[in-house]
Amino acid sequence: MHDPRLKHVIVVGGGLAGLAAAETLALPLERVATAAHPACTVTLVEPTGRLGGVVATVRQDGWLVERSADSFFAGRPEAIAMVERLGLRSELVGVDPRVRRALIYRDGRLFPVPAGFRLLAPGRISSIVTSPLLSLRGKLRLLAERFVPRRTADLATVSSDESLEQFAVRRLGREAFERLVQPLVSGIWTADPAQLSMAAACPEFFEMERRFGSLSSGERMRLKHTGGEDEATGARYGQFVTLKSGMETLPTVLGERLHCAGVRRITARAQRLVQTESGWELFLQAVGNGSHAAEVPPQSLLCDAVVLAVPSGVAAQLLAAVDQPLAQELAGIQYAGSAIVSLGFSQSDVQHPLDAAGLVVARTAGRKILAISFSSSKFPARAPLGAVLLRAFVGGALDPTTALLDDSRLQSLVIAEVSALLGIRVPPQFVQIDRWAGAMPQYHVGHVQRIERINRRLAGIAGVALAGAAYEGVGIPQVIASGQAAAARLV
Ligand SMILES: Cc1cc2nc3c(=O)[nH]c(=O)nc-3n(C[C@H](O)[C@H](O)[C@H](O)COP(=O)(O)OP(=O)(O)OC[C@H]3O[C@@H](n4cnc5c(N)ncnc54)[C@H](O)[C@@H]3O)c2cc1C
Repeated sequence: MHDPRLKHVIVVGGGLAGLAAAETLALPLERVATAAHPACTVTLVEPTGRLGGVVATVRQDGWLVERSADSFFAGRPEAIAMVERLGLRSELVGVDPRVRRALIYRDGRLFPVPAGFRLLAPGRISSIVTSPLLSLRGKLRLLAERFVPRRTADLATVSSDESLEQFAVRRLGREAFERLVQPLVSGIWTADPAQLSMAAACPEFFEMERRFGSLSSGERMRLKHTGGEDEATGARYGQFVTLKSGMETLPTVLGERLHCAGVRRITARAQRLVQTESGWELFLQAVGNGSHAAEVPPQSLLCDAVVLAVPSGVAAQLLAAVDQPLAQELAGIQYAGSAIVSLGFSQSDVQHPLDAAGLVVARTAGRKILAISFSSSKFPARAPLGAVLLRAFVGGALDPTTALLDDSRLQSLVIAEVSALLGIRVPPQFVQIDRWAGAMPQYHVGHVQRIERINRRLAGIAGVALAGAAYEGVGIPQVIASGQAAAARLV
């Protein structure tokens, strides 16, 4: 129920976190907005003239290309519930059951991820024993995981956090880390595993060790509880879904719903937040792009409360004059960049059957591409009839330069590597390059404690909330949850 004293809230940032916050404020989920408890007036400030932030879809001549996220995890409720609220249930489609597995490229060859091996957790012994990906020594070490003593640690202390590399090498051995875990992780987080925090990025596996003593026992227990139905190879592909018409449908339809609910949209860049006697003043800078650019924004807006659903570096700038230590903590969260080169080919020109969700590349393979998603194998209608769509990822925390190459060098490099890996001898029919400079927050060791410090400082500032991928999960459901929680914190 909304606090009737909260009359006007500004949401800064029109990505999924900001949209979820605006929805929670303007369209209370419990639908109890009454005369006594009206939904508050909401203004959304976004500089680009479009909604969705990094989530964007390009539809062109029969190709449907996701510029960033191509699907989301349906094992958490927030994104699915939003899809249902927006009447988009019939749009949902899962990863094709025939391709729910990943391949790993190393030593010039493609190997399937052993069946049942989920990111860090070995599910099936038989598939590890028979996998050609690991040496005999590597297999024995991996199978000995259940005898590695558990590390007793308390998640609340910094010293208890561990990098993903330390954790994986300690439990599974260096070979399994290099040949299996590292490629799978870099394909998902574009992160440096030597810095990625287990407590922040993989709490489930951290907890598994604590509860069950080993990842193999924990995974066996999990499968027992799910009746083995949730066995996954690489990622949990069975639980990833997309929207038939593309991911951008979600922010577009939500934006329309918010417009109908009276949410005012201002195309401008937020520059500075200043506390007033009764609330906040947000200073704006006009931008010269986007469909709403003709509207000259006001120089500043007054409000009772504000949700900052922007990258943490932008939140740091906005809060610099409000709370310097908080701004410093926010500025300390690092981001990595990447680029996606989407390539379309005639199916008959690709020798590989593309009978997987995609492939990830081991760092030791000496290639620039991190991963290739076989988009048209995973989801329907991503390519014209008889054609296939592949999305190749480069960059990430360990390779900051490749994603910065100019278009023609980036395109040639990626086409050469994709063609070599998948047996393609003709140029692509379709090419699209999407660059994401500094778009992926990196949860380094100690991230959980940094978030606790941020929350402690925020608790002393009435009427300001933070939301977005920088804090408690980068996946779409987590980002939506963060927007909803930020709105709830204000009311
Ligand atoms: C390449 C890539 C692939 C991904 N793939 C997946 C995937 O397959 N599945 C998945 O679940 N997740 C995926 N993610 C993660 C997920 O898409 C993001 O974490 C999530 O969409 C981020 O939402 P957000 O609202 O926090 O931030 P953003 O989408 O970055 O939105 C922030 C908004 O703030 C605005 N803004 C910035 N500065 C200002 C300012 N000064 N004033 C006002 N507004 C401002 C920006 O214009 C933007 O619209 C991927 C991310 C990337 C980059």
